[in-house]
Amino acid sequence: MKRILNLAFIGAFIMAQACAGGSSVSLPVTRTFDCDVLVIGGGPSGIAAAVCAARHGAKTILAERNGCLGGTATSGLVAPFMSSTTPDGKTLLIRGFYEELVDSMIVQGGAIHPLEASIGAFSAYRDRGHHGLTTYDYECLKRTSEQFCKDAGVELLYHLLFVKADTRGGRITAAYFATKAGVWKIKARNYIDCTGDGDLAFSAGAPCIIGDGEGEMQPSSLFFVVRNVDWSAMDAHDEACRKAGDFEGQFYMREILAAREKGEFPMWRQKIALFRNLDGTATVNMAQNDGVDGLDPKQVTEAEITGREQVAYVVKFLRKYVKGCSNCELAYSADQLGVRETRRIDGVYTITAEDVNNSVTYPDPVFCCANHMDIHRKGHVEYVARKSNDPYYVPYRALLPKGVSNLLCAGRCISAERPVMAAIRVIPPCFAMGQAAGTAAALSVKAGVDPAELDGGELAAALKADGVYLP
Ligand SMILES: Cc1cc2nc3c(=O)[nH]c(=O)nc-3n(C[C@H](O)[C@H](O)[C@H](O)COP(=O)(O)OP(=O)(O)OC[C@H]3O[C@@H](n4cnc5c(N)ncnc54)[C@H](O)[C@@H]3O)c2cc1C
Repeated sequence: MKRILNLAFIGAFIMAQACAGGSSVSLPVTRTFDCDVLVIGGGPSGIAAAVCAARHGAKTILAERNGCLGGTATSGLVAPFMSSTTPDGKTLLIRGFYEELVDSMIVQGGAIHPLEASIGAFSAYRDRGHHGLTTYDYECLKRTSEQFCKDAGVELLYHLLFVKADTRGGRITAAYFATKAGVWKIKARNYIDCTGDGDLAFSAGAPCIIGDGEGEMQPSSLFFVVRNVDWSAMDAHDEACRKAGDFEGQFYMREILAAREKGEFPMWRQKIALFRNLDGTATVNMAQNDGVDGLDPKQVTEAEITGREQVAYVVKFLRKYVKGCSNCELAYSADQLGVRETRRIDGVYTITAEDVNNSVTYPDPVFCCANHMDIHRKGHVEYVARKSNDPYYVPYRALLPKGVSNLLCAGRCISAERPVMAAIRVIPPCFAMGQAAGTAAALSVKAGVDPAELDGGELAAALKADGVYLP
């Protein structure tokens, strides 16, 4: 925590200097790096972007503020990887880098293949949208991602908080980081924003949208893990409720209401949500905060503190009411809040809900998926109906911000209407976006053009050659 505060302080100082001195930073830089491709943010999208850029021959640096890779999927304890298949769980749609990473984790005993996942404890017993999940081990993801980076020749730099970009003539010329060793500057030919929050794109002046466009952002959640769960009792309860058609009983909705009345459950979560992990522990997604601005450190801090208070209530509730959880104990809570929504770019192309509905095809597809569109609201999830379950595509132009020609975005900040982002922000599509952005950044270095000028058809062909599924 102390380290984060120190970095935040230096960051604020740099910003103040930058504002005072116009568009460039006036603090002394203690170290400078040069590369072809700089990826900022080492979550799912950043891992894939960096490895794929390096594999395509680019000298690549991956800068991350934490001390591990995985982002929300490790430091945020968000798990499992949401569906990467058709809605029936039968055909794998997100392939390429994602499939390779999962296969490598399976060999180490650190994941279950999405085509082998069925509805049950690993999917929190939920049918809707939960076919084809990938249960995985957090530590295995951290280690395997680092190994992939090493093997590809990515230079990994942890403990670097990006704070400011320099731009000239619609291009980024340098990125500045707050570090324990002063301000570090990284210059690259191409830049990829994988911060989830569009920090780099925003700093470079690219137009961005926040949440619903009027300041409302979806609730955030603090994930945690409990041990000593009796899964046979959990399974038996689920089966009995399914047989009886008792949906409310299946998810302990009546008990939640009763506990709330008694002041034992002062949160607005309506259902239990426990996902079984490979080691028999459970990842729990039940501590939630509404109205948190994920870009405001003060609000995030408050949500993390309240989140941990909620965790204590949830554990007590589970022990008292949930069959199979009477002996469960808190193992650990996430180091950071899970933030669903902040900024996304208003890019060269914005994927619309109508595009998704009609499964429209583009000349520059980078992957396809079939995740459902939903908006999390206080107390419930609003599903956006689709005409069919057909897979839909993500075009390259949605990764390109307006007005900054050597920048790509991947992950939670690409250009998509709000419900579409709600569908494609889950982890498997983020890996796929990262693969597309990293490959594009490297190909454009080779071709001597900016990513904005790269031929989308050529990129699609390269992605197919690398195992991406593009029917
Ligand atoms: C509550 C919640 C529940 C979810 N449930 C699921 C689920 O069950 N399954 C699923 O598949 N998906 C789920 N998701 C979605 C998914 O976890 C994220 O959308 C996804 O991880 C986003 O990937 P990303 O690479 O864009 O960003 P992130 O995973 O957020 O990674 C961003 C990385 O960038 C780093 N970073 C950020 N800013 C800076 C900076 N200024 N300088 C340096 N580094 C920086 C961060 O430390 C982090 O490592 C959930 C999300 C939330 C919030």
